[in-house]
Amino acid sequence: MKRAVLIAAMFALGACSLLAPPALHGICTAQGFAIDVDFAGAGRHDCVIAADGSVVISVDHEPAVVEGINPSPWFAFRVTSETARSVVATLDYTDYKHRYRPYISTDGLHWSVLPESAVQLNERQTRARIAFDVKPGVTWIAGQPLSPARDNLDWTRRALSGAGFTEVEYGRSLEGRPLIGFVGGGGIDAIVAITRQHPPETTGQDAYRGFVERLLGRNDAKAIAFRARHRIILAPIPNPDGVDGGHWRLNAGGVDLNRDWSAFTQPETRALSAWIREQAGDRRVVSMMDFHSTDKTVIYAPPLDAPSPTIAFLPALKETFDRVLTAPPEWSYAHNPEGGTSKGWALEVLRAPGITVELWDQISPQDARALGAAAADALIEYFAK
Ligand SMILES: [Zn+2]
Repeated sequence: MKRAVLIAAMFALGACSLLAPPALHGICTAQGFAIDVDFAGAGRHDCVIAADGSVVISVDHEPAVVEGINPSPWFAFRVTSETARSVVATLDYTDYKHRYRPYISTDGLHWSVLPESAVQLNERQTRARIAFDVKPGVTWIAGQPLSPARDNLDWTRRALSGAGFTEVEYGRSLEGRPLIGFVGGGGIDAIVAITRQHPPETTGQDAYRGFVERLLGRNDAKAIAFRARHRIILAPIPNPDGVDGGHWRLNAGGVDLNRDWSAFTQPETRALSAWIREQAGDRRVVSMMDFHSTDKTVIYAPPLDAPSPTIAFLPALKETFDRVLTAPPEWSYAHNPEGGTSKGWALEVLRAPGITVELWDQISPQDARALGAAAADALIEYFAK
């Protein structure tokens, strides 16, 4: 009898737990909702829920070996709510200034930017109070549409599918993630394109995508001749630890990879530079483009008298941008061999014009892709002669 009562009680408990809502978990939980960061690309956050139900989320950065430049305070978190509600969340940057407009998504794939009116900054711009509505279930908030390492690898695989490219693991990151590159096309010359050295810079990634699509998508005689003549070397995610770890700018070793192309202290830059040199071999590298994002669309290029046999491509690239883009980029010409950028390395080691292509943080994906496509057109038109 006692045993039967115990079994009945256990059954009742089990039935009860089946009916209960799923347990909320995260970095802070209260009043039927929770904030969590259990996904690739999440920001480095802690949080508290105030007595009035509003949330304060600290926005932290990765430990940096040297004092940082160009702070990119990245945020990405997820709200799980049992009910529909309005959420007020304050992003607390301590001494850094708010930079990225918040995007919202209910599936992590489709995003819309919150209206300006939903964001209020304090006078120092070190706290951003954002207001948004959530439905029951999960809502993502992030500083740009979320794009973990897997996303640009999958995109690149799909874009290159059937085009005769080889996927290569050219090394491992500091945390052991595979470093993946793609190589294809023919011949006697070569080009290089990379993006996402700096994790949040996804508008640069949009331009990279426009570039790859146009380079592979054109099927006129010039494009076919270009691909037959050029080996195409692509590195879509050279900093996977930084991207998936929600870093602002650095890799897991606390180093800005785009300042490490002369000292080569990090496995990511050592492996990528070695792989590019191996793939280029004896070929003439006619251009190396590195796609980034910043507060305006701007091209950083070497001086027009720099010692590269293909330096005259730069005016042709500028002419194409000026002719086809509604808002052509500014240009800035300089070369610093000690700067540690991929751009400087390209000129020093490959004798190629290294070009840092910077897209405005808030440029639309369509405009970013148009710039990348124009860069591909300029290469095809100039070099497929
Ligand atoms: Zn950058």
